[in-house]
Amino acid sequence: NRRIVLASRPEGLPTEQNFGMEQASIPVAGPGQILLKTRWLSLDPYMRARMSAAKSYTPPIEVGGLMVGGTIGEVVESNVPGFQAGDLVLSNSGWQEYAVAGPKSVHKLDTDGLPVTTALGVLGMPGLTAYVGLNDIGQPKPGETVVVSAAAGAVGSVVGQLAKLKGARAVGIAGGAEKCAFVVDELGFDACVDYKAENFKEALAAACDNGVDVYFDNVGGRVADAVFDLLNTFARVPLCGRIGNLNDTALPAGPDRVPALLSTILTRRLHVQGFIVSDHWHRNDAFLEEVGALVKSGQLRYREDVTEGLENAVPAFLGLLQGKNLGKALVKL
Ligand code: NDP
Repeated sequence: NRRIVLASRPEGLPTEQNFGMEQASIPVAGPGQILLKTRWLSLDPYMRARMSAAKSYTPPIEVGGLMVGGTIGEVVESNVPGFQAGDLVLSNSGWQEYAVAGPKSVHKLDTDGLPVTTALGVLGMPGLTAYVGLNDIGQPKPGETVVVSAAAGAVGSVVGQLAKLKGARAVGIAGGAEKCAFVVDELGFDACVDYKAENFKEALAAACDNGVDVYFDNVGGRVADAVFDLLNTFARVPLCGRIGNLNDTALPAGPDRVPALLSTILTRRLHVQGFIVSDHWHRNDAFLEEVGALVKSGQLRYREDVTEGLENAVPAFLGLLQGKNLGKALVKL
């Protein structure tokens, strides 16, 4: 049973040295447990936060501990009625080849003809994040402008497409021309702006000539600064992720920008709300019904970025933190 553990805490962008590959024996399913062979591992930005000791909404991974992660496992042995060998389940088995689990910590998969991997992406945690952040916090109205960062990724790609279906204008922000072309040509956003291009701020302003009514913030940092300048009075800002700041080791240079930010929030009467998807599982049935139907009918599109082999999970994860993935990052075991 190969397992990838946290070997040391990263300073800034993690490196291969922060991870270790261990060989352990295959665990044994006790009474009331099932033994799972991992088929798919989801790679997600939150894993970077869990590698740090900094206080967050969940405790950090201990040094030496297994890297956490959502997985799809195949039941190889079951001591639980209702589960049998060959069943596929959604679980949180982490970066390892085998795991034992109790029935309450897994969810039997029935993806109704869609690929099982959708349960980790467009119809899984990232999709639900997009759904609750946009609908419950962003609340876009027809004709409004919705901007989303990390627009080519797992969450952002769903945000913009749902915004369009609500009759809003969807403007994405992504790194590089290839990603921007994908966002417009394949996902159907109205525009996408490359934040790595020199004229980013001007191009963003041009793409949002009526200002911004909803900013779904996946990245923070200078990308968020540029969008905040364009927010309309009473705009809504679902604060979803900080991937643009996750690897920072120092405060940004220059004057303290917090007073100006708070002043913008006050004078433009902004609704800025941080949210964590795990507080919103009660929305999962509505989400699966609505977005599941859209995916099945082809009205909502998604892309997956698949890496083969657990031994390649670390480079794939380091790639995700540098924008090398296009679509939901997955490892096939
Ligand atoms: P993605 O599939 O979007 O992959 C991450 C992307 O982030 C990269 O492809 C890259 O795209 C972008 N990125 C990386 N570094 C930077 C940077 N320095 N500045 C700007 N963009 C960067 O990941 P997800 O869709 O899974 O996650 C998107 C965000 O949503 C993350 O911040 C994540 O933490 C957050 N999230 C929050 C949840 C919650 O409950 N609040 C739940 C799930 C996700 P590019 O090439 O365009 O730069």
